[in-house]
Amino acid sequence: MHCPFCNATDTKVIDSRLVAEGHQVRRRRECAVCHERFTTFEGAELVMPRVVKQDGTRQPFDEEKLRSGMLRAVEKRPVSTDDIEQALTKIKSTLRATGEREIKSEMIGNLMMDHLMVLDKVAYIRFASVYRAFEDVSEFGEAIAKLEK
Ligand SMILES: [Zn+2]
Repeated sequence: MHCPFCNATDTKVIDSRLVAEGHQVRRRRECAVCHERFTTFEGAELVMPRVVKQDGTRQPFDEEKLRSGMLRAVEKRPVSTDDIEQALTKIKSTLRATGEREIKSEMIGNLMMDHLMVLDKVAYIRFASVYRAFEDVSEFGEAIAKLEK
C-alpha cells in the first residue's frame, strides 16, 4: 500500500503479528522513501445479510439489537454473558451459512428463540411473549405448550 505520509508506493512490512485472538493481523510497515513507520490491520470482512422486516422494509443486520433483546430476556436468570455471546456467534454463522443476501426478520427471531429455549425456559417464554405479542396472542399459548412437551 502507499505510504500515508509521502504517498510513495514502496513500503515494506517490518513486523507482523496476530491480534484479536487470531482474527486480525497487525502489520508494522516502513516507507522505503521517507522511512516513516505506520501500522495496518487486516481482518476478514464477513458480510451479514440484510434484514427484511414484516412490513417489507429493509435494514442492515444489527447485532447489538439481538444482544440487547437476548440480555433483556435473561435478566436475573442464571445465564452467563458468555452463553449469550456464544448463541449470538452461532446465530450469525447460521445466517451467513444461508448464503442469502436478504433474510426475514422472522428467521432471526426464531433462531433467537431456539437458543433461548436451550439456555433458559423462563427467558424463552419472556422473549417469545414479547416477540409474538404483535402477531398473534394465541401463539403465546403455543410457546408454552411447546415447552410442556
Ligand atoms: Zn513515505
